[in-house]
Amino acid sequence: MSNSATRTMKDPSTQGGAPFLRDREEQDARTSRATGTTGCATINLDQLARNWKRLADLVHPASCGAVVKANAYGLGAERVIPALARAGCTTFFIATPSEAFEARRLAPDADIYALDGLLPNSAKSFAQADVRPVLSTLAEIESWAQLGTRTGHPLPCALHIDSGLNRLGLTARDTRRLAANQKLLDCVDVKLVMSHLACADNPVDPKNRDQLLAFETLSTLFAGKPRSLAASDGLMLGKAYHFDLVRPGYALYGGQASVSNAAPVAPILTVTARILAVNEVAPGESVGYAASWRAKRPSRIATIAAGYADGIPRSASSIDDKACGHVLVAGHKVPIVGRVSMDLITADVTNLPAGSVAAGDDAVLFGAGLTIEDAGYAAGTIGYEILTRLGPRFSRRYIETDAGN
Ligand SMILES: *Cc1c(COP(=O)(O)O)cnc(C)c1O
Repeated sequence: MSNSATRTMKDPSTQGGAPFLRDREEQDARTSRATGTTGCATINLDQLARNWKRLADLVHPASCGAVVKANAYGLGAERVIPALARAGCTTFFIATPSEAFEARRLAPDADIYALDGLLPNSAKSFAQADVRPVLSTLAEIESWAQLGTRTGHPLPCALHIDSGLNRLGLTARDTRRLAANQKLLDCVDVKLVMSHLACADNPVDPKNRDQLLAFETLSTLFAGKPRSLAASDGLMLGKAYHFDLVRPGYALYGGQASVSNAAPVAPILTVTARILAVNEVAPGESVGYAASWRAKRPSRIATIAAGYADGIPRSASSIDDKACGHVLVAGHKVPIVGRVSMDLITADVTNLPAGSVAAGDDAVLFGAGLTIEDAGYAAGTIGYEILTRLGPRFSRRYIETDAGN
């Protein structure tokens, strides 16, 4: 990644014959800290593959695709897509043309769907790269049909029907108009008819049922075409929502999308950052910008090398006694105190046993014991945003023992 250039600079924490020198070196080797980065995101591709297989088993006989848009939710399409393809995934969804061409390069034989449809000047390159645009307006369908006619054969695509999200997709009226226009339909090769749910994270929301019925009714107009409705949360709503293909993203990366239906997946991401300093702060002293947090007792504050530029939400800042975000230090969950700044956060480690934390140690920002859901919730956002905003300054390390290469 961007900051992985090797530095010859000596690690100050190992100067002066520090007693923990060997431990520190071993730890540095484990976390790629030797590369001079301030933090490391470790992505377990073995667990990613297990997550995909568990979801595939769960929805069988429906097929399980994978949504790998936004650089595989920030975890690195370059490694995630081949790992999923090796696990058996043959259908990938991305959003934009550049993501589509990258996916095509990484998964030469897969079916690749571009969720954002036909962006200007993308149609020809989609056709050349055998990428299937997800078409959501009659105008898009017409232009894809024209290109097919010029090319000499109908080109593959998906149709996106809006079943109530009111975001993207053909309206019910346009869906019926299209279904009645056999001439137009003959000029496109519809590989998939899909829609997207608004409230699937809440299984008891009546809108799920409404959208299911709307999708049933409208998709039936395209008899025999494979259908897809569910993403990570939707596939936990039961068989009726699986149709021919499910499209999980978040759950593959270990996220729990549903508020009450736990998906059979486990986290794949651990993010650590270096503790740069541990400071004693006297009662009455403040910590951080705007002096928004004040020590009420003699306190020890760990300053950690990650901030909002690295994707730690600024809204994880604590104001006075209201702790928002947490980190793990020496295995203990401790509150972020004061403001999250661009490169740094400060955490209150006063309650930790003496000697258990020192400059040069790692803090865990997300991982076992501190899920992306918890981190998102604490900062007034969702785990999805935590994942996709993970900054480029973290080095990326991939665990993959099943790669066969
Ligand atoms: C992003 C997206 C998905 C994947 O959603 P997850 O909640 O991450 O599983 C599926 N379908 C569409 C249309 C999407 O935009």
